[in-house]
Amino acid sequence: MSRFWSPLVQRLTPYVPGEQPKISNLIKLNTNESPYGPSPKAIEAIRNAADDSLRLYSDPVSLGLREAIARRTGLTTDHVFVGNGSDEVLAHAFQALFNHGDPVLFPDVTYSFYPVYCGLYGLPFETVPLDDGLRVRIDDFNLPNSGIVLANPNAPTGIALGLGDIEKLLAAHPDRVVLIDEAYVDYGAESAISLISRYPNLLVVQTFSKSRGLAGLRVGFAVGDPALIEGLVRVKDSFNSYPLDRLAQAGAKAAYEDEDWLGECVSKVMASRETLSGSLAELGFEVLPSCANFVYARHQDREAASLAAALRERAIIVRHLKGPRTSSWLRITVGTDAQCAALVDALKDILRRND
Ligand code: PMP
Repeated sequence: MSRFWSPLVQRLTPYVPGEQPKISNLIKLNTNESPYGPSPKAIEAIRNAADDSLRLYSDPVSLGLREAIARRTGLTTDHVFVGNGSDEVLAHAFQALFNHGDPVLFPDVTYSFYPVYCGLYGLPFETVPLDDGLRVRIDDFNLPNSGIVLANPNAPTGIALGLGDIEKLLAAHPDRVVLIDEAYVDYGAESAISLISRYPNLLVVQTFSKSRGLAGLRVGFAVGDPALIEGLVRVKDSFNSYPLDRLAQAGAKAAYEDEDWLGECVSKVMASRETLSGSLAELGFEVLPSCANFVYARHQDREAASLAAALRERAIIVRHLKGPRTSSWLRITVGTDAQCAALVDALKDILRRND
């Protein structure tokens, strides 16, 4: 704390990112990255972009990448915004769209960056409790609000809502933006992008960090009515008018266009997720039904914190989030089959020894 900090920064509780360990032989199942990496075509495009043209600024509007996204989503480039990871896109959306006096609404158990953005931009917020099964209850999002944010599938639970529920919310709040954060949508949930033409209050945010295996490139995007996108562009141009560098634009475009690679990686992860969920259940875990590349699980009689610590001693890292409704759970990224098998073996050993 410093007296030089502005009052807003003094009050801010920053987001705590998941650990990115320096040791390379860990089995890393803590931050929901893809175990398969990006499309080889994306790597080639990045290599090709790494030349003398790097002395020039990047395209400030990332047109090529936005065209690729527009083509696949059946929208126009005016419907598409890109940024440095969906975290940055979300930050711009909170700042551009949510300051109407009433609180921003999101679930009590969800992506923990949402309250941080509210703190950063001085936005009041209210959390809406999930039900006892950690499910979103749409009917509870019925308070006056400045906007509603839902991760779908939700994180860290992995539970997805159907489009019927999202449509209900959009129709009930026509004067407010409903932001659907689809970081994990490719792993079995339905995207709300198909609703954009009918709902000018819908903003959908996606990322290249998960199913496209490019967390290290930092690219995310939003799609929505051109008026919403224009709001984001206004904030972007007042913040960093060249958000995506040349390598990111080239790599993300190639990754987006390689649907075969996406499909293969997603199918493998979804198959491993079902095997892993079954194995965890056999070991005495309650496992929530996941539509994401992670599972949320708690053991019937072992504390999550001690399990996470015991796994770490065996060179496997998973995510244990503190907090009243999350501290008994572990969020485990679905890795390769070999990584999942190593996790299950380690858990068997831990549970047998009772350490
Ligand atoms: N939304 C959710 C729900 C997430 O879990 C994450 C990843 N931590 C993000 C957004 C941000 O992802 P990125 O900035 O890598 O696109």
